Amino acid sequence: HPLTVHVPLNGGRGYDILIGRGLLGQTGARAAALGARAAAIVTDENVAALYADGARASLEAAGLRTCLVVVPPGEASKSYAGYAQVCDGLLAARIERGDLVVALGGGVIGDLAGFAAATLRRGVRFVQAPTTLLAQVDSSVGGKTGINSGHGKNLIGAFHQPRLVLADTASLDTLSEREMRAGYAEVAKYGLINDAAFFAWCEANWAGIFSGGPERDEAVAICCRAKAGVVVRDEFEHGERALLNLGHTFAHALERLTNYDSARLVHGEAVAIGLALAFRFSARLGLCPGQEAGRVANHLALVGLPTRLQAVPGGSGDADALVEAMGQDKKVRDGALTFILARGIGASFIAPGIDRAEVLAFLKAEL
Ligand code: NAD
Ligand code: ZN
Repeated sequence: HPLTVHVPLNGGRGYDILIGRGLLGQTGARAAALGARAAAIVTDENVAALYADGARASLEAAGLRTCLVVVPPGEASKSYAGYAQVCDGLLAARIERGDLVVALGGGVIGDLAGFAAATLRRGVRFVQAPTTLLAQVDSSVGGKTGINSGHGKNLIGAFHQPRLVLADTASLDTLSEREMRAGYAEVAKYGLINDAAFFAWCEANWAGIFSGGPERDEAVAICCRAKAGVVVRDEFEHGERALLNLGHTFAHALERLTNYDSARLVHGEAVAIGLALAFRFSARLGLCPGQEAGRVANHLALVGLPTRLQAVPGGSGDADALVEAMGQDKKVRDGALTFILARGIGASFIAPGIDRAEVLAFLKAEL
């Protein structure tokens, strides 16, 4: 029995997130239950080698016509070229509006295949089958899809909600330690945002999440429930959804300054540093006890995540460069930035109007 989290969006757009080991074997039955007659699996080369045959066999056993579109692994596929390859692959396979696009892979595939589904024939139904921890707890839920441009990440995109999310937690067994840890930064983030009890649970149970025990399924379900709640209350990010960006203002600046080079820093590692910085910055501003900031950094470090700017391979750039890179991310109004800050673990809030000079002084002290 998979764990189920329902996302009750209005207008008949509600959907289920199913979480459990071996769920990819149910891809066909679940797709048939949605009334689809054909399904296109979009995936990357790494995931294709591991899981495409199984998913495809499951779809065919359920009587669906299938096709497979495989792009190279990595962020570079979230591009105009990757988008063209996927759309043309789907069109060549005569995928229609009532058919299904199955995004089988990490966040790159979810964003790319989701955006292709959002725009192909003005909207084709799609299923998220996330295979990274990051995708299972974050990117597969909420309907944000898109690709990158030379001007920045995720600048071309659409809101397009999936019809179903199938999170096969056994697929994470083949994920590298590094990608697993990176996804874990987002897991911890949910506790830090508004669920102190979940953060404490993570401190006690993180090893089970990594080893694939029942704690993994439970953690994915708790995170999906948290994200679903936020998405239902604020689907188009007019307010509360911004809380999900805890740690991300710093993280995006670090990713920009390391040229999105995953050999140096992957997103989740940048998020781990960003979370630690957000709490230390909150402590410096007198909003949060220093002890809480210490607890956050200690836990992230315990699982092997970086928590300091000095940990960025090749250096993070100086304080001025960091603030400059942050200014590109967020709207800077009269020299002020918007941050997600915290009064403690599980007590984050949106803080507009943070003085640029204050951020600069903090980062200088950090370096
Ligand atoms: P990814 O999709 O690149 O996957 C990471 C690596 O793991 C890839 O090399 C992939 O081939 C490999 N892989 C995937 N599943 C595997 C498995 N089960 N076993 C072995 N290897 C596997 O990266 P990601 O971290 O999953 O996603 C990052 C992307 O997600 C970014 O582009 C980011 O912008 C996006 N994102 C989107 C949202 C959203 O709301 N849409 C939220 C957060 C992040
Ligand atoms: Zn993130």
